[in-house]
Amino acid sequence: MEMQIKTTRTTNSKLKDIDFSTIPLGRTFTDHMFICEYEDGKWNNPRIEPLELIPTHPAAMALHYGQAIFEGMKATVGNNNTPLLFRPEENAKRFNHSAARMGMPAVPEKLFVEAVKQIVGIEQAWIPPQEGSALYLRPFMYADEPFIGMRAATSYKFIVICSPAGPFFTKKIRLYAETEYIRAADGGTGEAKAAGNYAAAILPTEKAKAKGYDQVLWLDANEHKYVQEVGTMNIFFKVAGKFITPSTNGSILKGITRDSVITLLKDKGFEVEERPITIDEVIAYSKEGKLEEAFGTGTAVAIAMVEAIGYEDEVITLPETNPVSIDVKNTLDEIKVQKRDDIHGWIIPV
Ligand code: PMP
Repeated sequence: MEMQIKTTRTTNSKLKDIDFSTIPLGRTFTDHMFICEYEDGKWNNPRIEPLELIPTHPAAMALHYGQAIFEGMKATVGNNNTPLLFRPEENAKRFNHSAARMGMPAVPEKLFVEAVKQIVGIEQAWIPPQEGSALYLRPFMYADEPFIGMRAATSYKFIVICSPAGPFFTKKIRLYAETEYIRAADGGTGEAKAAGNYAAAILPTEKAKAKGYDQVLWLDANEHKYVQEVGTMNIFFKVAGKFITPSTNGSILKGITRDSVITLLKDKGFEVEERPITIDEVIAYSKEGKLEEAFGTGTAVAIAMVEAIGYEDEVITLPETNPVSIDVKNTLDEIKVQKRDDIHGWIIPV
């Protein structure tokens, strides 16, 4: 299916008013958005238009029953000023995995990737020039059928908006292992990038911040002891020379950075175990001096080193230096701007 994406360009770009050295994160949006609507069982009228408010019926089902999913990805600039995407087809697949779990229609992978490519092509001047910065892309879908009643909606919108980001100062993070609240249970929606998962995480995250932490380290719903993931990142531990990351078990988001980092660590000769790991194990490794490094992985910052983990009455502190974490982060950052060979074929020029 060939999809024609109609483009209407703004006559009044905001780009000239933007100072890329001071852009606040997540508050600045580019001139255009991609948008299309699902009705009568198909996606209609895919187009790129000047970004504007979307009229919403007060009974739009997403507002009441929460059929809403999203993705997060970044466009960077490579050699000869070519805009680049990182593994966009993985985001397309995950988007449809989320859609399926939430009873929402799939977006054809080709349409998803084409939408992202074309919006990035149009907004490429918005990719910030500084090293470490990128254009953050937010594809999302929500139910906009006006209806009160519990069932899958029949109409949806699929939209992609863009927000210039960074350069991030990647400070070390302090994690709070949460024992009261949970993020996801077996059979729940943890593996979907569903808006409701984030809604449920807001209160626990605010409480963790009030205790002096940056993000929640989620534990499993049954026994409150198996480490799952961090706020918006997956988690890795370096224990006695090898890496351990929780196996994805249906309630952990399958991070694309996680998958990429596993590959890079193996390239570098490290053993990586994907297996269940308990918070007690992590604490014991720390006490035995075997916990060498810990980091979170996610699109926003790529890799964030962990400084400390709080659990019940204890706080464990990670070693100050993180040589392997820094090396992997540099490798990933360099691949994303074509300063290093893309041996795995992750980079897609726009
Ligand atoms: N877990 C959660 C809950 C997230 O929101 C994210 C960010 N998408 C991740 C993990 C990391 O995923 P990725 O590496 O694909 O950004």
